[in-house]
Amino acid sequence: MPLADIIARINAAERAAARPEGSVTLIAVSKVQPAERVEAVLDQGHRVFGENYVQEAQRKWPAWRARYPGVQLHMIGPLQTNKAKAAVELFDAIHTVDRPSLAERLARLADQRGTSPELFVQVNTGREPQKAGVLPEAADEFVAQVRALSLPVVGLMCIPPEGEDSRPHFAMLAEMAARNGLTKLSMGMSADFEAAIAAGATHVRVGSAIFGARDYGQR
Ligand SMILES: *Cc1c(COP(=O)(O)O)cnc(C)c1O
Repeated sequence: MPLADIIARINAAERAAARPEGSVTLIAVSKVQPAERVEAVLDQGHRVFGENYVQEAQRKWPAWRARYPGVQLHMIGPLQTNKAKAAVELFDAIHTVDRPSLAERLARLADQRGTSPELFVQVNTGREPQKAGVLPEAADEFVAQVRALSLPVVGLMCIPPEGEDSRPHFAMLAEMAARNGLTKLSMGMSADFEAAIAAGATHVRVGSAIFGARDYGQR
């Protein structure tokens, strides 16, 4: 679907929720997509992108950053502690902080660098064993732990279970953010970003609806 159509749908969802136009940031998820599709979106002026893999992002983005000023990169995939240094050097925001060892590593890097990407805590709202994220009942304490490390934690992120109604998960995340004084909510993908905006999403992560289906066979 053309980028302009996605943006129009986001704006309509903002209006329907009586939220100001532009209050939702569209993160175009470019993982695994062929370069020409990503460049077509960059050429249309979009500058906010999401990637899942540190090494893939390291390979692709330095050249695009040089060609297209103003790129903002969001890390939305699980982050291994041994990739944290590369991640903070590359990304403007990390959406997948989900364990003390990673938070402590990010805090040491922030001390050394004098700066840190904006951080989101990922919550495993569906309690799926194979999925990253803190469990819902552990989220408040973990947010407090991350804050105690003087890290810039700004919001929460979730990926609802596939094939389930996302809305209860979005509502749970919004309530958790509100009671923790967090203002940003990273939720909503191609199939459900309008429902996420209705529930208060500030960042929607949309991949295939913009770029087309991903072909993992080509990696
Ligand atoms: C791949 C991915 C997306 C984008 O998914 P689409 O269904 O293609 O929009 C969003 N969020 C995360 C965490 C992802 O891994």
